[in-house]
Amino acid sequence: MMTAPFDPSSTSSTSSASAPSRSEPNGCPPLLSELQQFTRLRQLANSVPLLMGYHAADTTYCLYANRSYAQAWGYDETSIIGLSLAQIVPPSLLPRLIEQFELALHSGTASRYEDLLDASDGGPQRSMEVTLVPDRNEQRQQSCGVLVLLHELTRYRDTERVMAESEGRLARFMQASVEGIVFHRDGLLLDANPACCELLGQSLHAMLGRPLLDAIAPEQRHRVAQLLTGNQDLSVETLLVHRDGSRIPVEFIDRATLQNGAPLRMSVLRDLRDRHAAQARLQYLAHHDALTGLPNRQGFMSQLEHLMVTARSAQTQLAVLFIDLDHFKRLNDSVGHAAGDAQLKIVAQRISACLRTSDRVARFGGDEFMVLLPGIRDARDVIHVAGKLQAAVAAPVDIEGRPISVTPSIGIALFPRDGESPETLIKHADTAMHMAKAHGRAGYAFFDHEVAASAYANLVLEGQLSQAITHGEFALLFQPQIRTIDGVLLGVEALIRWHHPERGLLTPDEFIPLAEQHRLMVPIGAWVLHEAARCARRWQVLGLAQPLSVAVNLSTMQFQAAGFVESVQQLLQDTGIGTDWLELELTERMLMDDVPQVRQRLEQLRALGVRISVDDFGTGYSSLGHLKELPIDKMKIDRSFVKDLPYDRESAAITSAIIELARGLDLTVVAEGVETEAQRQFLARHGCDQLQGMGISPPLSLAQFEHWLSSRPADLTLLSVNT
Ligand code: C2E
Ligand code: CA
Ligand code: CA
Repeated sequence: MMTAPFDPSSTSSTSSASAPSRSEPNGCPPLLSELQQFTRLRQLANSVPLLMGYHAADTTYCLYANRSYAQAWGYDETSIIGLSLAQIVPPSLLPRLIEQFELALHSGTASRYEDLLDASDGGPQRSMEVTLVPDRNEQRQQSCGVLVLLHELTRYRDTERVMAESEGRLARFMQASVEGIVFHRDGLLLDANPACCELLGQSLHAMLGRPLLDAIAPEQRHRVAQLLTGNQDLSVETLLVHRDGSRIPVEFIDRATLQNGAPLRMSVLRDLRDRHAAQARLQYLAHHDALTGLPNRQGFMSQLEHLMVTARSAQTQLAVLFIDLDHFKRLNDSVGHAAGDAQLKIVAQRISACLRTSDRVARFGGDEFMVLLPGIRDARDVIHVAGKLQAAVAAPVDIEGRPISVTPSIGIALFPRDGESPETLIKHADTAMHMAKAHGRAGYAFFDHEVAASAYANLVLEGQLSQAITHGEFALLFQPQIRTIDGVLLGVEALIRWHHPERGLLTPDEFIPLAEQHRLMVPIGAWVLHEAARCARRWQVLGLAQPLSVAVNLSTMQFQAAGFVESVQQLLQDTGIGTDWLELELTERMLMDDVPQVRQRLEQLRALGVRISVDDFGTGYSSLGHLKELPIDKMKIDRSFVKDLPYDRESAAITSAIIELARGLDLTVVAEGVETEAQRQFLARHGCDQLQGMGISPPLSLAQFEHWLSSRPADLTLLSVNT
């Protein structure tokens, strides 16, 4: 249309009356009248997406308009005819249009410009491309009209703007990103952001057009090339090469995109140095002790496993040394934790300084250190190092101006002899360390299966012992004590037994020393006192024998425990049968300990009405003067002297001397362990007051004792002489 000359004179009117047209099967009307042709052209003109108007050159009157053109200005195809541009076009658009209109007329060539048209419905403005085509009359060499064409550009302009905005955003993002970003096509670099330039130490200028793979470490290029040729979005960890030759770990993420329809790739290079450093730091922290910087238990375990593998293949031995500082807790509590920490650091340094580079040292926490010695030929190698370690650790350290020395106890386990797994080796080195401590500390000990087994048995026993009271596994036996001259029953000694769930009946020697070591003797002793009181009361209520004293053995720990006297007082009150039934047996050794305190306690007990008996007399070498000062009622001649009576002269001499001594001090004297008639006669002859032993009766259970009592003949004089 734009090129077809337009003759306005042929438009007779603007009536849209259209003649019926015969459509041919192919849609092309073969022969049309002029009117028919014109009508058809109008229809076509209304259906093109173009606003078209034809204005007279001189008056600017509209001579023709298609529908969209007329509507754009608020008219229809008919009402717009004959109106000038000034009448049609809003004032904001008019000056430019008139100017271009004139230009087109005078130049005789089409002119074109863009303008914004207000939408008739008040919607957003529309971008229009305005084209003014002069309708030249070839004969007169001048134009008689101008065809005004408006072409809507809004959509293109919008798209363009959106694209420009997004490109701007991308560009800004690229510039600001801390991650390296590269655009490349066919493997050649098209653009890179500053972060990328910095990663590589190159200027953008130097990189443009160069192969991207040049930036990758040579041995990694193959992998990255595979990534770049694939069509999926993928990422790999790889190494960049900086201009200075250093290698930088990055995550390489590649994306396929399009630019102006052409395929383009974008790669993101994420610097992994910080992440790797953080991971390494975490790894380090997990395997090291913060105070000393030495490997911790976890770190040590992996070293041990590693060295075990080496030792196995080299067929050499490996020594595991468990080092524990003696009394470190006490030091820590007295000098404070800061000084304690300082001491630990020094110990760590000293241990490290004693070792070869192939040796390993770790801190297990607290004051426990571990040393690994590979390539050990025999025990002497280890002893040599243990000695060096001891000397180094024990050297005094200056703490707040005072020289302080801590000694180490060292337990040693050898691989493969003492264990095949890291856990077993450490456990055995630990056990050996405890053995070193048990042997007086400041020493070393090799792991020993037998010793460990008995130590283990004790440990088990100890655990069971602490539950024996609640499980009701203890029982008392009673061994009668009779008057020598007539055999009258005067009392019993209570002797404890443990009915062990697996090992059967245990005598005191099998568990009392252990109970003493672990302070279990205090509750056990209390149980014995209560059980003795219960039985004493029972006999009194039954009227079986009166007066009947019950002798209870005391352990050192029990006697020295705070509140012991008060507990006895309470017991006597609770039992409610008076106080003259209770006798306490203390060994001669117990009385020698801390004299003023012992005397005070004994006096307090005496004041309660309790009798005091000195057990195992003759074995403790106590001075007579000392004994005289103590409130004592009774002496028990130790079994070892009675055993060889009457033929052993020394035993006989000692026994008679003790009896004489007791007499002199006005004390009752008892012989224990009386088994034979000859012993009994000797003791009777020398004036021993009372007798106790198998010859009279073995220790009896409660039921056995009560039966023994009731079956005794009434005339005891006979018994004492004849049995
Ligand atoms: P002990 O106080 O010298 O007790 C006497 C020990 O001699 C008892 O051993 C008794 O069974 C044993 N015995 C009795 N008659 C004879 C005899 O004719 N010949 C020989 N060879 N031995 C005789 P048991 O009952 O094994 O007690 C051993 C030690 O255990 C006791 O020695 C005592 O020191 C301690 N003990 C027993 N019961 C208790 C208790 O309840 N508390 C405390 N702390 N120690 C106890
Ligand atoms: Ca005793
Ligand atoms: Ca005794």
